[in-house]
Amino acid sequence: MSTLESVRADLPHLVTTLPGPKAQAIIARDSAVLSPSYTRSYPLVVDHGEGAIVQDVDGNRFLDLNAGIAVVAAGHCHPRVVEAIREQAGKLIHMSGTDFYYENMVELAEKLARLAPGDSPKRVYFGNSGTEAIEAAIKLARKHTKRDQFVAFFGGFHGRTMGSLALTASKSVQQQGFFPAMPGVHHVPYPYVYRSSASSAEACALDCIRNIEDVLFRHKVAPQDVAAFVLEPVQGEGGYVVPPKRFFDELRRLADTHGILIIADEVQSGMGRTGKMFASEHFDFVPDIIALAKGIASGMPLGAMIARADVMDWTPGSHASTFGGNPVCVAAALATIELLERELIANAARVGAHMKGRLDEFPERYRHVGDVRGLGLMIGVEIVRDRQSKERAPGLRDRIVQGCFERGVLVLGAGPNSIRICPPLVITKDQADFAVDTIEECLRTLRA
Ligand code: PLP
Repeated sequence: MSTLESVRADLPHLVTTLPGPKAQAIIARDSAVLSPSYTRSYPLVVDHGEGAIVQDVDGNRFLDLNAGIAVVAAGHCHPRVVEAIREQAGKLIHMSGTDFYYENMVELAEKLARLAPGDSPKRVYFGNSGTEAIEAAIKLARKHTKRDQFVAFFGGFHGRTMGSLALTASKSVQQQGFFPAMPGVHHVPYPYVYRSSASSAEACALDCIRNIEDVLFRHKVAPQDVAAFVLEPVQGEGGYVVPPKRFFDELRRLADTHGILIIADEVQSGMGRTGKMFASEHFDFVPDIIALAKGIASGMPLGAMIARADVMDWTPGSHASTFGGNPVCVAAALATIELLERELIANAARVGAHMKGRLDEFPERYRHVGDVRGLGLMIGVEIVRDRQSKERAPGLRDRIVQGCFERGVLVLGAGPNSIRICPPLVITKDQADFAVDTIEECLRTLRA
């Protein structure tokens, strides 16, 4: 590492071998007592963070391109978010918005209702996580339509509780041993253009729609029984897959033809990550229900389900959550949205375009880079054995993820063989360049 990098507080700086002694001791304790279901890609034990930088317990500084899995939108411990949390915690920590009223919950609902795509009035339900936002959406869709089945997409990830798990079709290990989850979910292919044999992105989109109309609806489920389509506008866990606009247009047509609702799971793609508040906006796509969590409160646990007001017609007692919309989380969300609107969404668009512009050159230069895709600061790099065969190379992907960690840059995998880039939206151009340089260095090492 050069002297310049070592003195710059905004770039990585490693002072021990990894993991350092303190990290090793904590990992040993963790492995004796924490649930073995957690998936840890590398031995990082974080002590504190600021912006896009985290420092581990041994004093090693890392550039974080994970943001706590697309959560800390405003960066680690943004002063404005910290101040909002402190202020609210000193005033009112909990009251249960399901039984009583408090103003900041109303203010946040008003904001989200205003921001959500589409002109029709909206209502908002609050939970604590992505999976709860999805569970709420499932229940609302059933209640409103009086239908009980759902169509979801292969590669989609919607959570791990029994309703959302039924919609999830990302990795089979997530299902293994838990059958049966909620009945009535049918999975169909998602428009994964890079892996499609269709002649164009448009053709790939149309194939997927035809598959629903001509195969699923003909042979398996009557459209009149389908309450909702559930999809991520950009698949996250599935590999950061961006569908063509045509897919959204056709899905809307199909939904309207049969009175089927559309639930957009924007848990990962929402809240400015893609350079717009909601990924749906990139496609002029207006869902009936939107699920949010992750980035909404920059690290505080909050989930939201926004629905068209005429759809959210359930009655008192139909659904609720003790902690959902907790005043402290809501305060963090209000501060986050203010920052998103003021500067962070524009930064995500600007720095994201810069990063993707550089990464877009990689498939030409490195034979293991098959595809680069994404919107804003939600970028996936698909690693393959070679570009001609497109054979997935999960082992090589893991070596790159590990190589980045050893150089002080934190990235994770997404899907079987993609690198996931989802930094805090405060990341600077210099930091983005450092990250891309590091990925490039790892690719060169693979070549050697
Ligand atoms: N939906 C999407 C698109 C997600 O990426 C996730 C989590 O990764 C979830 C739902 C579930 O969110 P949570 O882990 O907060 O329950």
